[in-house]
Amino acid sequence: STVGCVDDPSTLGRWDARFLWHPWSASVPAEPRLMLVAGDGCDVVDVGGRRFLDARGGLFNATVGYGRSEVVKAIREQTAALMTYGLGAASTPPVVRLAAQLAELFGRPLTRTLFVNSGSEATEAAVKIARWYHALRGEPSRQVILSLADGYHGTTASAVAMTRLEATRSGVAPLPEGFVTVPTPRCVDCGRGSLHGDCVVPGPQTVEETIVRLGPGAVAAFMVEPVLGVGGIVPLPAGYLMAVRRICDEHGVLLIVDEVLTGFGRTGAWFAHQAAGVLPDLVTTAKGLAAGYVPLAAVTARQGVFDVFAADPVVGGLRHGHTTSGHAVAAAAALAVLQVIADNDLVAHAAEVGATLLGRLRADLGRVPGVREVRGHGLLIGVQLDSVVRAAAVTAACQRAGVLVRQQKEVVAVAPPLIVTSAQAARIADTLTQATTDTAETMS
Ligand code: PLP
Repeated sequence: STVGCVDDPSTLGRWDARFLWHPWSASVPAEPRLMLVAGDGCDVVDVGGRRFLDARGGLFNATVGYGRSEVVKAIREQTAALMTYGLGAASTPPVVRLAAQLAELFGRPLTRTLFVNSGSEATEAAVKIARWYHALRGEPSRQVILSLADGYHGTTASAVAMTRLEATRSGVAPLPEGFVTVPTPRCVDCGRGSLHGDCVVPGPQTVEETIVRLGPGAVAAFMVEPVLGVGGIVPLPAGYLMAVRRICDEHGVLLIVDEVLTGFGRTGAWFAHQAAGVLPDLVTTAKGLAAGYVPLAAVTARQGVFDVFAADPVVGGLRHGHTTSGHAVAAAAALAVLQVIADNDLVAHAAEVGATLLGRLRADLGRVPGVREVRGHGLLIGVQLDSVVRAAAVTAACQRAGVLVRQQKEVVAVAPPLIVTSAQAARIADTLTQATTDTAETMS
């Protein structure tokens, strides 16, 4: 067969249309899809040789950029030595090292890590762990998982049941039970950006009211993103996480922070919950962990949560996992990624370049018609426009100008690799401003 050798663009395009089932995508896309063949630094290159500045970092996951030789070397060496071995039966050095490295980054008592393969799997595992935790401690009635209505935690069954996003929910009933949402606090409705006495946005009290309404001993956990990603790059109001931590403590509810998108420097801190001064019971991570080089995700738990599982009646531990949970090659890649981030001080860099980029976008886009708000933390920035059509037009115009941004409904999201230079950030700002201004003219 010659199938494996085909590389001419037109055949690849035809086969793409004929054989591939793209996730989250129209069966017949309005525009031909990019066929990407290479990448280096912050750029990706299509099959025709055209270069794009990837201001969306893949799916927000390419934090150390493309073609990073340290990561490639680590993957090659581990693949040659031992690709992996199931962690139900044995251990491998890269996985042990990575778990220890994460314990150091999170700090005590967040010391125990379970590895899985995607953010959605991390959500599923966290939900089960929370429910089991209470059951093992003699409170099996604590089943309900609370989350924000506009949150996003993935596309597996529990993750879908956790939010009100129509795109993921419609047509897949019956969904699993035991999930209740609370209203999303959106500061764009008020403008102050933090909790205050006469807040009009639904604050942490809605979490407490729901816990009380459902009754004592009903709620297992509250799961939340520090910055809603798919929900539109919506940072939680300052003080919100701290307040829900206190509420969770008062009512015996676990706090699960979903750092799948925000973790590993994206928001200008190693982890957004650390910047908020909050200690979760469980943290889920994925995207920035192996930075797109291989699939890898994790649930990191407080030591006290882990300890409870020794009482499990069946295996005396956790009854959950996948064949490739803790894949050795993925762990080796992640170790190299974390080393790149540390060696190059990319967390501080993301904070600095991100603040400049946010400032520029606020100044330049502030007076452009159709722009409602520019917001974000670090290198996770959202430009909220007044319509989905305008956001789609701006996103397409940026791509024509050689810069890839991501549209999430009426929001244009900007999240370049953390290695983005000041010059590249300036180009992103210029391109986005030009595209938004041109679109405002044609749409007025
Ligand atoms: N949680 C958050 C905050 C996410 O942004 C995502 C993915 O975008 C997920 C969970 C699900 O991760 P995955 O797509 O790897 O299943």
